[in-house]
Amino acid sequence: MTAASPASLRRGWCPSTLRPMETGDGWLVRLHPPQACLTPPQLIAITALAERFGNGLIEITARANLQLRGISAAAHPELVAALLRERLVDEVAGEGPQRLVLTSPLLDERPGFPGLDFGDCVDAAALARELAAAGRELAGLPPKCAIVVDGGGAMALDGVAADLRLVGVAPGLVSLGLPHGLWYGPLAPDSALTAALALLRGFAAMRPDRPELRRLRDCTPANLAAMIATPRCAAPAPRPAPARAGLFTAADGRCAAMVALPFGRCGAGVLRRLGEAAAAGGAKTLRLTPWRGLSCLDLERAAALRFLAQAEELGLIVADGDPRLGVQACAGRPACARAQSDSMADAAVLAERLAPLLAAGLSLHVSGCIKGCAHPGPADLTLVGAEGGYDLVVGGAPRDEALARLDLAAILARLQPGQDLYSRLARPSGRMP
Ligand code: SF4
Repeated sequence: MTAASPASLRRGWCPSTLRPMETGDGWLVRLHPPQACLTPPQLIAITALAERFGNGLIEITARANLQLRGISAAAHPELVAALLRERLVDEVAGEGPQRLVLTSPLLDERPGFPGLDFGDCVDAAALARELAAAGRELAGLPPKCAIVVDGGGAMALDGVAADLRLVGVAPGLVSLGLPHGLWYGPLAPDSALTAALALLRGFAAMRPDRPELRRLRDCTPANLAAMIATPRCAAPAPRPAPARAGLFTAADGRCAAMVALPFGRCGAGVLRRLGEAAAAGGAKTLRLTPWRGLSCLDLERAAALRFLAQAEELGLIVADGDPRLGVQACAGRPACARAQSDSMADAAVLAERLAPLLAAGLSLHVSGCIKGCAHPGPADLTLVGAEGGYDLVVGGAPRDEALARLDLAAILARLQPGQDLYSRLARPSGRMP
Protein backbone atom coordinates (compact mmCIF):
# COMPACT_ATOMS: atom_id res chain seq x y z
CA MET A 1 0.00 0.00 0.00
CA THR A 2 1.39 3.40 -0.93
CA ALA A 3 1.39 6.32 1.45
CA ALA A 4 -1.51 8.72 1.07
CA SER A 5 -1.07 12.45 0.79
CA PRO A 6 -2.89 14.44 3.42
CA ALA A 7 -5.86 16.04 1.73
CA SER A 8 -6.47 19.76 1.68
CA LEU A 9 -8.83 21.42 4.14
CA ARG A 10 -11.44 22.52 1.63
CA ARG A 11 -14.87 23.25 3.03
CA GLY A 12 -17.05 20.20 3.68
CA TRP A 13 -14.16 17.77 3.36
CA CYS A 14 -13.72 15.04 6.01
CA PRO A 15 -10.58 13.06 6.84
CA SER A 16 -10.69 9.27 6.88
CA THR A 17 -8.38 6.35 7.35
CA LEU A 18 -7.09 6.36 3.78
CA ARG A 19 -7.18 10.17 3.46
CA PRO A 20 -5.53 11.58 6.59
CA MET A 21 -5.44 15.26 7.46
CA GLU A 22 -2.28 17.19 8.18
CA THR A 23 -2.38 18.92 11.58
CA GLY A 24 0.07 20.63 13.92
CA ASP A 25 1.07 17.35 15.54
CA GLY A 26 1.32 15.17 12.44
CA TRP A 27 -1.34 13.42 10.39
CA LEU A 28 -4.78 12.84 11.86
CA VAL A 29 -6.26 9.48 10.85
CA ARG A 30 -9.99 9.07 11.36
CA LEU A 31 -11.35 5.57 11.91
CA HIS A 32 -14.96 4.58 11.24
CA PRO A 33 -15.45 1.29 13.08
CA PRO A 34 -18.34 -0.66 11.51
CA GLN A 35 -21.65 0.20 13.21
CA ALA A 36 -19.61 2.34 15.68
CA CYS A 37 -19.03 -0.85 17.69
CA LEU A 38 -15.82 -2.43 18.94
CA THR A 39 -15.10 -5.44 21.08
CA PRO A 40 -12.87 -4.74 24.09
CA PRO A 41 -9.89 -6.52 22.41
CA GLN A 42 -10.40 -4.35 19.30
CA LEU A 43 -10.31 -1.17 21.39
CA ILE A 44 -7.14 -2.38 23.09
CA ALA A 45 -5.61 -3.16 19.67
CA ILE A 46 -6.37 0.39 18.48
CA THR A 47 -4.67 1.89 21.53
CA ALA A 48 -1.55 -0.15 20.74
CA LEU A 49 -1.59 1.16 17.14
CA ALA A 50 -2.03 4.74 18.39
CA GLU A 51 1.08 4.39 20.54
CA ARG A 52 3.11 2.54 17.93
CA PHE A 53 2.37 4.73 14.92
CA GLY A 54 1.24 8.03 16.44
CA ASN A 55 1.66 10.25 19.48
CA GLY A 56 -0.76 8.18 21.56
CA LEU A 57 -3.59 10.73 21.58
CA ILE A 58 -7.01 9.37 20.64
CA GLU A 59 -10.21 11.34 20.06
CA ILE A 60 -13.85 10.34 19.71
CA THR A 61 -15.91 12.59 17.46
CA ALA A 62 -19.56 13.65 17.67
CA ARG A 63 -20.21 11.32 14.70
CA ALA A 64 -19.06 8.32 16.78
CA ASN A 65 -15.71 7.94 15.03
CA LEU A 66 -12.20 7.59 16.42
CA GLN A 67 -9.21 9.75 15.55
CA LEU A 68 -5.56 8.83 15.99
CA ARG A 69 -3.22 11.82 16.16
CA GLY A 70 0.42 12.39 15.40
CA ILE A 71 0.75 9.75 12.67
CA SER A 72 3.81 10.18 10.47
CA ALA A 73 3.71 9.87 6.68
CA ALA A 74 6.14 6.97 6.85
CA ALA A 75 3.99 5.07 9.37
CA HIS A 76 0.65 5.59 7.63
CA PRO A 77 0.74 2.64 5.18
CA GLU A 78 1.64 0.20 7.94
CA LEU A 79 -1.07 1.62 10.19
CA VAL A 80 -3.69 1.27 7.45
CA ALA A 81 -2.61 -2.30 6.73
CA ALA A 82 -2.93 -3.19 10.43
CA LEU A 83 -6.37 -1.56 10.72
CA LEU A 84 -7.70 -3.40 7.67
CA ARG A 85 -6.13 -6.70 8.73
CA GLU A 86 -7.82 -6.48 12.14
CA ARG A 87 -11.13 -5.34 10.51
CA LEU A 88 -11.09 -2.22 12.67
CA VAL A 89 -12.25 0.07 9.87
CA ASP A 90 -14.62 -0.17 6.97
CA GLU A 91 -13.78 2.61 4.56
CA VAL A 92 -16.41 3.68 2.01
CA ALA A 93 -15.01 4.38 -1.46
CA GLY A 94 -15.31 7.88 -2.89
CA GLU A 95 -16.11 11.19 -1.22
CA GLY A 96 -19.47 10.32 0.34
CA PRO A 97 -20.17 10.07 4.07
CA GLN A 98 -18.06 7.50 5.90
CA ARG A 99 -20.71 7.27 8.61
CA LEU A 100 -24.11 8.06 7.18
CA VAL A 101 -26.32 6.64 9.94
CA LEU A 102 -26.26 7.39 13.66
CA THR A 103 -28.29 5.42 16.18
CA SER A 104 -28.67 5.11 19.93
CA PRO A 105 -25.38 4.49 21.73
CA LEU A 106 -27.26 1.85 23.72
CA LEU A 107 -27.85 -0.27 20.59
CA ASP A 108 -25.66 -3.02 19.28
CA GLU A 109 -26.24 -2.78 15.53
CA ARG A 110 -24.19 -5.78 14.55
CA PRO A 111 -26.10 -8.80 13.25
CA GLY A 112 -26.14 -11.57 15.82
CA PHE A 113 -25.52 -9.28 18.78
CA PRO A 114 -28.79 -8.99 20.72
CA GLY A 115 -29.54 -5.48 21.91
CA LEU A 116 -30.92 -4.26 25.21
CA ASP A 117 -34.57 -3.18 25.44
CA PHE A 118 -34.87 0.51 26.23
CA GLY A 119 -38.45 0.82 25.06
CA ASP A 120 -37.96 1.37 21.32
CA CYS A 121 -41.08 1.16 19.12
CA VAL A 122 -39.20 -0.36 16.16
CA ASP A 123 -36.07 -2.41 15.51
CA ALA A 124 -33.81 0.61 15.03
CA ALA A 125 -30.68 -1.53 14.68
CA ALA A 126 -32.11 -3.44 11.69
CA LEU A 127 -33.41 -0.24 10.08
CA ALA A 128 -30.05 1.48 10.55
CA ARG A 129 -28.17 -1.47 9.07
CA GLU A 130 -30.36 -1.51 5.96
CA LEU A 131 -30.17 2.26 5.53
CA ALA A 132 -26.39 2.28 5.94
CA ALA A 133 -25.97 -0.58 3.45
CA ALA A 134 -28.22 1.09 0.85
CA GLY A 135 -26.59 4.48 1.48
CA ARG A 136 -23.18 3.07 0.58
CA GLU A 137 -24.45 2.51 -2.94
CA LEU A 138 -25.64 6.10 -3.32
CA ALA A 139 -23.23 8.39 -5.13
CA GLY A 140 -23.30 12.15 -4.75
CA LEU A 141 -24.13 12.60 -1.08
CA PRO A 142 -22.05 15.23 0.73
CA PRO A 143 -19.45 13.85 3.18
CA LYS A 144 -21.17 15.40 6.21
CA CYS A 145 -24.66 14.05 5.39
CA ALA A 146 -26.08 12.37 8.50
CA ILE A 147 -29.23 10.38 9.22
CA VAL A 148 -30.41 9.63 12.75
CA VAL A 149 -32.39 6.43 13.30
CA ASP A 150 -34.11 6.74 16.67
CA GLY A 151 -36.21 3.83 17.90
CA GLY A 152 -38.42 6.17 19.91
CA GLY A 153 -37.45 4.75 23.32
CA ALA A 154 -35.61 6.19 26.29
CA MET A 155 -32.58 7.33 24.28
CA ALA A 156 -34.05 10.33 22.47
CA LEU A 157 -31.61 11.56 19.84
CA ASP A 158 -33.28 14.92 19.18
CA GLY A 159 -30.09 16.73 20.24
CA VAL A 160 -27.92 14.90 17.70
CA ALA A 161 -27.53 16.98 14.53
CA ALA A 162 -28.82 15.29 11.39
CA ASP A 163 -30.10 16.02 7.88
CA LEU A 164 -32.86 13.45 8.20
CA ARG A 165 -34.45 11.61 11.15
CA LEU A 166 -36.33 8.33 11.23
CA VAL A 167 -38.08 8.15 14.58
CA GLY A 168 -40.21 5.36 16.01
CA VAL A 169 -43.50 6.92 17.06
CA ALA A 170 -45.70 3.87 17.79
CA PRO A 171 -45.19 0.10 17.62
CA GLY A 172 -44.09 -0.67 14.05
CA LEU A 173 -44.40 2.93 12.84
CA VAL A 174 -41.73 5.44 11.88
CA SER A 175 -41.99 9.16 11.08
CA LEU A 176 -39.47 11.00 8.92
CA GLY A 177 -38.14 14.34 10.13
CA LEU A 178 -36.75 16.69 7.47
CA PRO A 179 -35.19 20.14 7.81
CA HIS A 180 -37.44 23.21 8.29
CA GLY A 181 -39.52 21.30 10.87
CA LEU A 182 -41.19 19.08 8.24
CA TRP A 183 -42.44 15.64 9.33
CA TYR A 184 -43.85 12.87 7.12
CA GLY A 185 -45.48 9.53 7.88
CA PRO A 186 -45.94 7.54 9.98
CA LEU A 187 -44.91 4.55 7.89
CA ALA A 188 -43.96 0.92 8.42
CA PRO A 189 -40.14 0.65 8.71
CA ASP A 190 -39.64 -0.77 5.20
CA SER A 191 -41.75 2.03 3.68
CA ALA A 192 -39.85 4.60 5.74
CA LEU A 193 -36.61 3.12 4.39
CA THR A 194 -37.89 3.41 0.81
CA ALA A 195 -39.00 7.02 1.38
CA ALA A 196 -35.68 7.97 2.95
CA LEU A 197 -33.70 6.48 0.08
CA ALA A 198 -35.88 8.21 -2.50
CA LEU A 199 -35.25 11.51 -0.74
CA LEU A 200 -31.49 10.93 -0.61
CA ARG A 201 -31.42 9.93 -4.30
CA GLY A 202 -33.34 13.07 -5.22
CA PHE A 203 -30.98 15.24 -3.16
CA ALA A 204 -27.87 13.60 -4.66
CA ALA A 205 -29.25 14.08 -8.17
CA MET A 206 -29.75 17.84 -7.61
CA ARG A 207 -26.24 18.52 -6.34
CA PRO A 208 -24.15 18.40 -9.55
CA ASP A 209 -26.07 21.41 -10.92
CA ARG A 210 -26.39 23.14 -7.56
CA PRO A 211 -23.08 23.01 -5.67
CA GLU A 212 -24.48 25.34 -3.00
CA LEU A 213 -26.54 22.39 -1.69
CA ARG A 214 -24.11 21.14 0.95
CA ARG A 215 -26.73 19.75 3.32
CA LEU A 216 -30.37 18.72 3.03
CA ARG A 217 -31.33 21.85 4.97
CA ASP A 218 -30.07 23.95 2.04
CA CYS A 219 -33.07 22.70 0.01
CA THR A 220 -36.26 24.71 0.21
CA PRO A 221 -39.34 23.15 1.85
CA ALA A 222 -40.89 22.94 -1.65
CA ASN A 223 -37.83 21.05 -2.97
CA LEU A 224 -38.02 18.63 -0.07
CA ALA A 225 -41.76 18.07 -0.41
CA ALA A 226 -41.28 17.25 -4.11
CA MET A 227 -38.88 14.45 -3.19
CA ILE A 228 -41.13 12.60 -0.73
CA ALA A 229 -44.44 10.99 -1.69
CA THR A 230 -45.80 10.65 1.83
CA PRO A 231 -48.38 12.72 3.72
CA ARG A 232 -47.21 15.31 6.25
CA CYS A 233 -47.71 14.54 9.94
CA ALA A 234 -47.13 16.19 13.30
CA ALA A 235 -43.74 16.14 14.98
CA PRO A 236 -43.33 13.27 17.46
CA ALA A 237 -44.14 14.03 21.07
CA PRO A 238 -41.11 15.48 22.85
CA ARG A 239 -39.16 13.13 25.11
CA PRO A 240 -36.79 14.13 27.92
CA ALA A 241 -33.18 14.63 26.87
CA PRO A 242 -31.27 11.47 27.80
CA ALA A 243 -28.28 11.29 30.13
CA ARG A 244 -24.98 11.42 28.24
CA ALA A 245 -23.10 9.35 30.81
CA GLY A 246 -23.88 7.02 33.69
CA LEU A 247 -25.76 3.78 34.33
CA PHE A 248 -28.65 2.66 32.09
CA THR A 249 -30.90 -0.25 33.06
CA ALA A 250 -32.84 -2.11 30.36
CA ALA A 251 -36.27 -3.71 30.73
CA ASP A 252 -34.76 -7.10 31.64
CA GLY A 253 -32.41 -5.65 34.28
CA ARG A 254 -29.28 -5.87 32.13
CA CYS A 255 -27.23 -2.67 32.12
CA ALA A 256 -25.13 -0.38 29.99
CA ALA A 257 -22.48 1.95 31.38
CA MET A 258 -21.77 5.12 29.39
CA VAL A 259 -18.72 7.32 29.80
CA ALA A 260 -17.40 10.34 27.90
CA LEU A 261 -13.88 11.58 27.24
CA PRO A 262 -13.30 15.12 28.51
CA PHE A 263 -13.56 17.26 25.36
CA GLY A 264 -13.47 14.06 23.33
CA ARG A 265 -9.80 13.24 23.86
CA CYS A 266 -7.55 11.07 26.03
CA GLY A 267 -4.30 9.15 25.96
CA ALA A 268 -4.14 5.63 24.56
CA GLY A 269 -3.25 4.27 28.01
CA VAL A 270 -6.57 5.48 29.42
CA LEU A 271 -8.60 3.80 26.66
CA ARG A 272 -6.55 0.63 26.97
CA ARG A 273 -7.38 0.41 30.69
CA LEU A 274 -11.02 1.12 29.87
CA GLY A 275 -11.00 -1.73 27.35
CA GLU A 276 -9.46 -4.01 29.96
CA ALA A 277 -12.14 -2.98 32.47
CA ALA A 278 -14.85 -3.79 29.91
CA ALA A 279 -13.34 -7.20 29.20
CA ALA A 280 -13.05 -7.93 32.92
CA GLY A 281 -16.75 -7.11 33.32
CA GLY A 282 -17.70 -9.60 30.61
CA ALA A 283 -18.69 -7.00 27.99
CA LYS A 284 -18.78 -8.01 24.33
CA THR A 285 -19.44 -4.55 22.90
CA LEU A 286 -18.15 -1.03 23.35
CA ARG A 287 -20.22 1.42 21.39
CA LEU A 288 -18.97 4.91 20.40
CA THR A 289 -21.39 7.64 21.45
CA PRO A 290 -22.30 11.01 19.88
CA TRP A 291 -21.23 12.58 23.18
CA ARG A 292 -17.65 11.69 22.41
CA GLY A 293 -17.47 8.65 24.62
CA LEU A 294 -18.15 4.95 24.86
CA SER A 295 -20.96 2.85 26.21
CA CYS A 296 -20.20 -0.59 27.52
CA LEU A 297 -23.21 -2.74 26.65
CA ASP A 298 -24.95 -5.68 28.24
CA LEU A 299 -23.45 -5.91 31.72
CA GLU A 300 -24.66 -7.17 35.07
CA ARG A 301 -25.50 -4.19 37.29
CA ALA A 302 -22.53 -4.79 39.59
CA ALA A 303 -20.15 -5.03 36.63
CA ALA A 304 -21.57 -1.81 35.13
CA LEU A 305 -21.05 0.05 38.41
CA ARG A 306 -17.50 -1.32 38.63
CA PHE A 307 -16.83 -0.17 35.06
CA LEU A 308 -18.05 3.35 35.88
CA ALA A 309 -15.91 3.50 39.03
CA GLN A 310 -12.85 2.47 37.04
CA ALA A 311 -13.62 5.03 34.35
CA GLU A 312 -13.92 7.75 37.00
CA GLU A 313 -10.53 6.78 38.40
CA LEU A 314 -9.16 7.24 34.88
CA GLY A 315 -10.47 10.83 34.83
CA LEU A 316 -13.35 10.15 32.44
CA ILE A 317 -16.85 11.61 32.65
CA VAL A 318 -19.26 9.17 34.28
CA ALA A 319 -22.27 11.34 35.16
CA ASP A 320 -24.52 13.59 33.11
CA GLY A 321 -24.00 16.46 35.58
CA ASP A 322 -20.26 16.68 34.91
CA PRO A 323 -19.59 20.32 33.91
CA ARG A 324 -17.15 19.22 31.19
CA LEU A 325 -20.12 17.93 29.18
CA GLY A 326 -21.33 21.51 28.87
CA VAL A 327 -18.11 22.67 27.20
CA GLN A 328 -17.08 22.08 23.60
CA ALA A 329 -13.40 22.49 22.77
CA CYS A 330 -11.32 21.73 19.71
CA ALA A 331 -7.78 20.36 19.61
CA GLY A 332 -6.17 23.82 19.77
CA ARG A 333 -2.45 24.37 20.26
CA PRO A 334 -0.12 22.59 19.73
CA ALA A 335 -2.12 19.90 17.92
CA CYS A 336 -3.63 22.21 15.31
CA ALA A 337 -1.45 24.40 13.14
CA ARG A 338 -4.23 27.01 12.79
CA ALA A 339 -4.86 27.38 16.51
CA GLN A 340 -4.35 30.69 18.26
CA SER A 341 -4.78 29.19 21.74
CA ASP A 342 -4.53 26.02 23.79
CA SER A 343 -8.31 25.69 23.70
CA MET A 344 -8.54 22.29 25.37
CA ALA A 345 -6.43 23.30 28.38
CA ASP A 346 -8.37 26.56 28.73
CA ALA A 347 -11.66 24.67 28.44
CA ALA A 348 -10.65 22.36 31.30
CA VAL A 349 -9.95 25.35 33.58
CA LEU A 350 -13.17 27.10 32.56
CA ALA A 351 -15.21 23.94 33.16
CA GLU A 352 -13.98 23.94 36.73
CA ARG A 353 -14.44 27.65 37.36
CA LEU A 354 -17.83 27.89 35.67
CA ALA A 355 -19.21 24.63 37.06
CA PRO A 356 -22.35 26.18 38.67
CA LEU A 357 -23.25 28.02 35.48
CA LEU A 358 -22.66 24.93 33.37
CA ALA A 359 -24.77 22.88 35.76
CA ALA A 360 -27.53 25.46 35.29
CA GLY A 361 -27.42 24.85 31.52
CA LEU A 362 -24.84 27.33 30.18
CA SER A 363 -23.28 26.15 26.91
CA LEU A 364 -19.67 27.17 26.35
CA HIS A 365 -17.52 26.66 23.28
CA VAL A 366 -13.78 27.26 23.38
CA SER A 367 -12.38 27.30 19.86
CA GLY A 368 -8.76 27.66 18.84
CA CYS A 369 -9.75 29.69 15.79
CA ILE A 370 -12.75 30.94 13.87
CA LYS A 371 -13.25 27.62 12.05
CA GLY A 372 -15.10 26.16 15.07
CA CYS A 373 -14.37 22.48 14.37
CA ALA A 374 -15.73 21.28 17.71
CA HIS A 375 -19.07 23.04 17.35
CA PRO A 376 -19.81 25.15 14.26
CA GLY A 377 -23.19 26.21 15.68
CA PRO A 378 -24.10 28.77 18.32
CA ALA A 379 -23.46 28.49 22.07
CA ASP A 380 -24.36 30.76 24.97
CA LEU A 381 -20.72 31.80 25.19
CA THR A 382 -18.18 31.20 22.45
CA LEU A 383 -14.51 32.02 22.96
CA VAL A 384 -12.53 32.18 19.74
CA GLY A 385 -8.74 32.07 19.93
CA ALA A 386 -7.27 35.33 18.66
CA GLU A 387 -4.00 37.15 18.96
CA GLY A 388 -3.57 38.10 22.60
CA GLY A 389 -6.46 36.09 23.98
CA TYR A 390 -9.99 35.15 22.99
CA ASP A 391 -12.75 36.94 21.13
CA LEU A 392 -16.02 36.66 23.07
CA VAL A 393 -19.22 35.88 21.12
CA VAL A 394 -22.44 35.86 23.14
CA GLY A 395 -25.27 33.68 21.85
CA GLY A 396 -23.56 33.02 18.55
CA ALA A 397 -21.14 30.88 16.58
CA PRO A 398 -17.38 31.32 16.12
CA ARG A 399 -17.80 33.28 12.90
CA ASP A 400 -20.31 35.71 14.44
CA GLU A 401 -19.43 39.20 15.59
CA ALA A 402 -17.39 39.32 18.80
CA LEU A 403 -18.34 41.64 21.63
CA ALA A 404 -14.87 41.96 23.12
CA ARG A 405 -11.39 40.50 23.20
CA LEU A 406 -10.60 38.84 26.54
CA ASP A 407 -7.23 38.30 28.15
CA LEU A 408 -8.33 34.95 29.56
CA ALA A 409 -5.02 34.23 31.23
CA ALA A 410 -5.21 37.50 33.18
CA ILE A 411 -8.82 36.84 34.19
CA LEU A 412 -8.08 33.31 35.37
CA ALA A 413 -4.93 34.43 37.19
CA ARG A 414 -7.06 36.62 39.44
CA LEU A 415 -9.18 33.71 40.57
CA GLN A 416 -8.06 31.31 43.27
CA PRO A 417 -7.88 27.66 42.15
CA GLY A 418 -11.07 25.84 43.04
CA GLN A 419 -13.19 28.97 43.21
CA ASP A 420 -15.73 29.37 40.50
CA LEU A 421 -16.14 32.49 38.41
CA TYR A 422 -19.89 32.61 38.97
CA SER A 423 -19.71 32.89 42.73
CA ARG A 424 -16.87 35.40 42.49
CA LEU A 425 -18.76 37.65 40.10
CA ALA A 426 -21.96 37.26 42.08
CA ARG A 427 -20.44 38.89 45.18
CA PRO A 428 -22.49 41.87 46.33
CA SER A 429 -19.65 44.27 45.58
CA GLY A 430 -19.39 42.84 42.06
CA ARG A 431 -15.65 43.38 42.33
CA MET A 432 -12.93 40.86 42.14
CA PRO A 433 -10.21 41.22 44.80
S1 SF4 B 1 -11.23 25.23 15.29
FE1 SF4 B 1 -9.56 24.35 16.47
S2 SF4 B 1 -9.10 22.39 15.54
FE2 SF4 B 1 -10.36 23.56 14.06
S3 SF4 B 1 -8.86 24.58 12.73
FE3 SF4 B 1 -9.34 25.99 14.38
S4 SF4 B 1 -7.83 25.65 15.98
FE4 SF4 B 1 -7.76 23.91 14.57
